[in-house]
Amino acid sequence: MNEEKQSMSFDPAVKLTSRRSGPAYWFVFADERLLVREGNPSVQVPLMENLALLGLEPIRQQVLGTLDQHPCYSAELPPETTPPAGFSFQGLRRLFGLLDEELFSIAVRAKQIVSWDQTHQYCGRCGTKTRGMDDERAKVCPACGFTSFPRIAPAVIVAVTRGDELLLARAQRFPKGFYSVLAGFVEAGETLEECVRREIREEVGVDVENIRYFGSQSWPFPHSLMIAFTAEYAGGELRPDSSEIADAGWFGPDRLPWVPEKISIARSLIDWFVESRDQ
Ligand SMILES: [Zn+2]
Repeated sequence: MNEEKQSMSFDPAVKLTSRRSGPAYWFVFADERLLVREGNPSVQVPLMENLALLGLEPIRQQVLGTLDQHPCYSAELPPETTPPAGFSFQGLRRLFGLLDEELFSIAVRAKQIVSWDQTHQYCGRCGTKTRGMDDERAKVCPACGFTSFPRIAPAVIVAVTRGDELLLARAQRFPKGFYSVLAGFVEAGETLEECVRREIREEVGVDVENIRYFGSQSWPFPHSLMIAFTAEYAGGELRPDSSEIADAGWFGPDRLPWVPEKISIARSLIDWFVESRDQ
């Protein structure tokens, strides 16, 4: 298994160039949950010629590309589908760390493509049935030519530091005691840097400077691209916007509250802070 992991390389594609036979990876969703073969301790994505072997009939399926010469497909099943024996449907968050990393990242991609395919069956301009383009991940309307692409919503997420302290906030929707770095969706016409300044000012009332790119993460809940930054406090008093933020504060590396799990880039930012202050 480990040797195989070294060589795994995913090559995205909209169609498969040659007629391939042999087993394919199937990233199959019912009601936003992925079909996995139960294993102990890890779980597996089905690797087989077709879904009929499991007695499953997808509503739609899409080509994702190839992984080590194995075709990869995504597919959508009716939401009420019962999993075959030995399989179950699982939310992606639960599968982080249980699925192989490469397969997990393909599953993240698959979930967004399945959802886009499902919600763009008809033209958003004139209502005609769309069709998929051959050479691009796009759908075109045969009547009016309107073309749509998988929707991605960019959001910034920011670690604001003040000396040896990190700004963390508890959103109203978070469980009690749970804090994270601030995040918000980019508005039309806004640069990422403008969005960082606006979000921090709106949510907690402070100004930031020295905004630096940190990294990014595809976040399929439902179709975000999280773009992470670090920034330094530049002035103002912490005044949480009570409609969104229940509480906010400055935390030292040794007295952090309950924070997000490893799956998220929020946690990578928090870990970066702890490591950079831990010298
Ligand atoms: Zn149209």
